[in-house]
Amino acid sequence: MLRLLIFFALLFGIFYFFYYKIKKFFIDLFTPEQVQEQSTKPKSIDKGEMVKCPVCGTYFPSNTGIKKNGKLYCSSECMSKDNQ
Ligand SMILES: [Zn+2]
Repeated sequence: MLRLLIFFALLFGIFYFFYYKIKKFFIDLFTPEQVQEQSTKPKSIDKGEMVKCPVCGTYFPSNTGIKKNGKLYCSSECMSKDNQ
């Protein structure tokens, strides 16, 4: 009987451990993005930000661009054009 009690206590402990881990994971997933955004914004371009291609002048989302020598190009075609 005592063994069963310890087993359940252990199970409850494991369950609680994972519950807090999952809870922390979901909190990390939803809340710190705003905090991170404020602290990292001056360093790098936001994922959803629109940038202008230095070659063809087209605006495109920075996460879809190709980065080379600190410049963001809309496509590999524009990147090779700028190098020439
Ligand atoms: Zn371009």
